[in-house]
Amino acid sequence: MSEFPIALRGSVGHAYILEGGLTNRLAIGNVFAKRLNCMTEGIGLTSACDECLSCRVFESGNHPDIFFVKGTKATGIGVDDVRQQIIMPMVTQPFKYKYKIFIVDKAETLTPAAQNALLKTIEEPASYGVFLFLAAHVHTLLPTLLSRCILVKLGEKDIMPDMEAQALAEEIAEIVADMDVLETMALYRRFEPYKESRESITNLLDMLYLSYARRITQAAVAGKDENPLWYDSIAAIKHTKQVLAQNGNFQLAVELMLLKLSGV
Ligand SMILES: [Zn+2]
Repeated sequence: MSEFPIALRGSVGHAYILEGGLTNRLAIGNVFAKRLNCMTEGIGLTSACDECLSCRVFESGNHPDIFFVKGTKATGIGVDDVRQQIIMPMVTQPFKYKYKIFIVDKAETLTPAAQNALLKTIEEPASYGVFLFLAAHVHTLLPTLLSRCILVKLGEKDIMPDMEAQALAEEIAEIVADMDVLETMALYRRFEPYKESRESITNLLDMLYLSYARRITQAAVAGKDENPLWYDSIAAIKHTKQVLAQNGNFQLAVELMLLKLSGV
């Protein structure tokens, strides 16, 4: 969720478009909305506390100030939907929380007339009003709408959460050096979930790279000897990234890298 801090840094914008795969854009859109109305201070930029009243009410699905806009006709989200679900509710102050947030998934199904009807509200937003338009592809939206929004590109394919990749990278860097060939080869299975998404595997390899870089830095700071294997590992990870970027065989590339990491 690396785009988050950018979107939330400084003052909150009024209209965002999150472009990306369904899981990504819904997950990030939801956390973003929850975070904006979270009542706990100092919890960082990328997550909500999940404990305050606002967070709990959001999770229950009945948040009075966060709205999921839905089309009521087969033709998409029309002018009437936008008037009733956005423009009219926007006139009044939030019921209880800081922002009134309108989440419009499948924004590409907004009819051109509906998009035009929204322009004025987006152009002259209420101080408490925030729009989150979620879409697979923004090029289907009118340029006049696009130009009024902050675009956050999440990537088409759903990426694995960073935390998961980070934990796996740490674990591998920790255990692989003590492994024999068979154990090392078995470790490949842990990479399989990352096979289908270029972004996911790149992310995982970056995390792996960082865990070795951190070992080198920590040893240097502590005045300890660096392990030459760490440098070899970093070179192997870089090489694997290149091979995969050129559509090399995934399993082969990962297994070779793991063997280098294990030092056998
Ligand atoms: Zn909260």
